[in-house]
Parts: sequence; structure tokens; C-alpha cells
Amino acid sequence: MKTTLKQELEKAYQGGYAIPAFNFDNYEIARGIINAAEQEKSPVILMVTESAAKFMGIDYVYTIGKYMVESTTVPVVLHWDHGFDIELVKAACANGFTSVMLDASKESMEDNIRMTQEVVACAKKYGVDVESEIGHVGGKEDDRDSKGNGYTTVAEAKEFEDATKIDALAIAVGTAHGVYKTEPKLQFELIKDIKANTTTPLVLHGSSGVPLDDLQAAIKLGITKINIGTDLKLAYANALKEWFNQNEGAFDARKFGTFAIEAVKAEAIKKIKAFGSSNKAK
Ligand SMILES: [Zn+2]
Repeated sequence: MKTTLKQELEKAYQGGYAIPAFNFDNYEIARGIINAAEQEKSPVILMVTESAAKFMGIDYVYTIGKYMVESTTVPVVLHWDHGFDIELVKAACANGFTSVMLDASKESMEDNIRMTQEVVACAKKYGVDVESEIGHVGGKEDDRDSKGNGYTTVAEAKEFEDATKIDALAIAVGTAHGVYKTEPKLQFELIKDIKANTTTPLVLHGSSGVPLDDLQAAIKLGITKINIGTDLKLAYANALKEWFNQNEGAFDARKFGTFAIEAVKAEAIKKIKAFGSSNKAK
């Protein structure tokens, strides 16, 4: 069932929970995400990064995304994650995505605002919601590496939302993409200050590997979209390793695929329960 990012994030804020936003890189991961959402009766954000879309084939992603949304009864936001190529972001708007993220966070504030305004103007024609990022979420962001410094400031967040009128704002508050080498330190005071001074729904990227009670504390401070990529990739890869260790010589993709789908589903359910979105599919 199709829904919008704006509507789901507003409901989540009112209800004191967060919507899990999961990345998929192939059919099995997408299937595991949707199966988890169905079992938990949870709304879900099904995301694909620009590089994952290129890996699968952009037209394939349009088709499988549409299929996943239309073949389930739970509300699904189909989201283009970390769009660096503005033309591909616009194409996603025209091809059935319900929300898009432009990531121009490496650009100057001025350029980030200008590029975000361009995407917002295009997205509005299709009724598509827009997320943008300011500050530098650490770690590996899709294909690009950042140094992991530079938290979002309250003043930047305010200036940015006023200038762009976006629907969701990704902030850099101590998380990083990929696998953590040391435990992340979320800047709770900063989340609180940004929330108190802005009105745009706030998004936390790089949330895999962050202790669930830290994420729950962030939800209490007003985070309503939590991005999870790495934890599902790990669940998928570990399931395949386990399967081949236990089934030497096996080769049936349907069998190990099913096993991997179950592992992704189980991991997604852990997040859904922790974020409080179970039984919120209405
Ligand atoms: Zn991200």
C-alpha cells in the first residue's frame, strides 16, 4: 500500500515512535523487509541507494519497488536514498518513488540549499516528498567517504529548513555509515536543541550497530526516521555463510534465498519492535 513520507513521519511523531527505513540491494533483502513489516503490521520505508539501483538496474528497481508497494497491505514509502546525481533523483520522482533524498551535504551550504530547492520544485510536481542532509554523517556514505567530522548545528538546520521547505532533514549527530569500530556516541543534547528550534521531521542515518536503547532515546527526542542498511546486509551475508557451511555442495538459489530472506526478516523485526512501529500500519 502506497503512503507518503510526510504522512508517516507526522503520525510517528504524534505517536512517539519512529519508522524504520531499510535499504535493499536485491530481491531477497526487499522481500525480507516487506515480510517483517507484514508480520509486525508496521509501516516501513523501503529504500534504495543510487549505487544499489545502478547495481540492480534502475528500471528493475522501478519495477520491483512498485511491485513491493502494491502487493502488500502495509503502508510502504518507496524512497530513493543518498541521491548524488540530481537527474537520477528527478527520474525517481517521475517513476513511482514516493520520496527522494538528495545528498548534497558535501557541497557548501549555499550549493546544498540551491540543489535541494531544485529537487523540491521538481518533486512537488509529482507529489513526492524530499529529504536532504546537512552536516557530515561519518563513515562511508554509499560510494563516497567522508571524514566523520562536523555535526549539524541548530543555526544551519534552521536556515536550511526555512530556505528549502523540505519534508525530512537528515542531521549529523554522532552516527556513521557502515560497521562501527568503536561505539558511536550520539549527541542527545544536540538532537534536543535541533528539534526544539525546527519543525521538519528529523532523520538519523548510520543507525546500524547503534545500541537499540540509544536509538530509543533519540526517538524520545523527536527522531522519526531511522535508516538501517548495514545490519540487514550483515544478516543476509551471515545467513548465506551459515547455509553453505551446513549444506556443502548445495546450489539451489531458492533454498538459500529463502533462508537469507528469513534472516533479513528476523533482523528487521528487531528494529521494528525497538522503534515502536509494530501495529501502526493503518
Ligand atoms: Zn545514509
